[in-house]
Parts: sequence; structure tokens; C-alpha cells
Amino acid sequence: MRMLSGTELLEVWERARTFPPEARAVALLSVALPEASPETLADLPLGRRDALLLSLRARLLGERMEAVAECPACGERAELRFSVAAITTPPQDDVPERPMARVAGYEVAFRLPASADLSALRHAPDVGSARRMLLGRCVLEARHGANDIEPDELPETVVAAVAAEMSRLDPQADVRLATACPACAHTWEARLDVAAFLWTEIDAWARRTLREVHLLATAYGWSERDILSLTPWRRQAYLTMTGR
Ligand SMILES: [Zn+2]
Repeated sequence: MRMLSGTELLEVWERARTFPPEARAVALLSVALPEASPETLADLPLGRRDALLLSLRARLLGERMEAVAECPACGERAELRFSVAAITTPPQDDVPERPMARVAGYEVAFRLPASADLSALRHAPDVGSARRMLLGRCVLEARHGANDIEPDELPETVVAAVAAEMSRLDPQADVRLATACPACAHTWEARLDVAAFLWTEIDAWARRTLREVHLLATAYGWSERDILSLTPWRRQAYLTMTGR
């Protein structure tokens, strides 16, 4: 994985800002991993993708992360502090080529959901249809005894078993943070969507950086390229001297 310069990060931020979340993730990784095609990145299981995004995050913005979660009991905002390492799960090395779930006489071969699946689901009219579409895309073969079964004919218990096996094989796709409410002491596990969260952070960084460029360009007449080529520390030093 290569490091992105400030200019490159601003470029990808500008280009991908109107994309849906899963396409933003692929756009970011395409710049950091130019040797991988966008199609390959879009087909990575979501947890594999998020592990790469976390590694990129650590390089761009450091290890320490902060998030805010809303208490489901009272609505108070709880502040969460954690590190990239704390939410990175070790890579699964026992993922079979063709994972199987076996339950109640059913045998279901499937693959793990990827960004390309999320893109395809984007226009589903409701959650139920999105779930059926995902199943239709990710179930490769389903049998009950000697009979072939269509994915949407699978009983609910079998679908649940497939979903559980998908989570077990791709744990990085489901990051949860143990959270306690500062107001009512309610405890729960807040889910962190790594791709969406990283984009929010990059968006905040980009807007802050553009503002710094504006202030320094106004004060010194330097070009955007010159200002972006300064180290963050030196940029801050000049900003302090301008009194902003
Ligand atoms: Zn609360």
C-alpha cells in the first residue's frame, strides 16, 4: 500500500464526493493500491476491504480514532476513543474457497458479500428485497438432499445460518464498540461502519485543508500546490504567524 500525498487525497475526495459509500471506498483504495484493478477491489469481501481501509487510515490520519454514538435508551451522545489496532481483527486464514453452510438437511455454498454487491443492492425498494437480492447474488448453490433449491426458497433458519457463517468468516465487516452512556449508564455495542466513517474523517480533513490553503494563500500569495507541499507542522506554524 502506498502513501497518498495531500494533493492526491484532495483529488480523490473531490472526484468521489458524489459517489455512494461503497464506491468511495473503492476509489480510495484504487489510489493507495494502484496495482489492483478497481474491479478486483470492488469484489473484495467487505471485511478484507475494511482491513485495507483501516491500514490506509492509520497511514493518513494516525492510529487514534474518535467517534460519537447516540445512546439507544436516552439519546445522549457518548464519545468513543479507540485505536485502529483495537478494531482490526486478525486476517482469517481458514476461509475456504467455496464456503458452505449445512443446516437441517440443507447445504448452501456461498461467497462473501463485497462492495459490488452493495452497489447492485442500492436500488432495491426495501430492506426485504435488498436481503433477497444479496442472497441471490452470494448463494452459489443450494441443495436439500438431492434437490436444487433457489436461494429465495430457502427457509428463514437456513438463511440465518448462512448469514452467521458469512459473519464468522469475515469478522472485520462487523466492527462493534462496547459503549456505556455517560447519562443513564446504559451499555450497548455500537456498530462502526468503517468505510462510511473513514469518508467522514477524510471529508473533515479535506475541508480543513482547503481552509488552510485559503488562509495561507490570502496571507502570503502562495499557490495551492506550494501550500500543500508544506508539512502539516510547518503549515500550522505559518498559520499561527498569520494569527488565524
Ligand atoms: Zn443513555
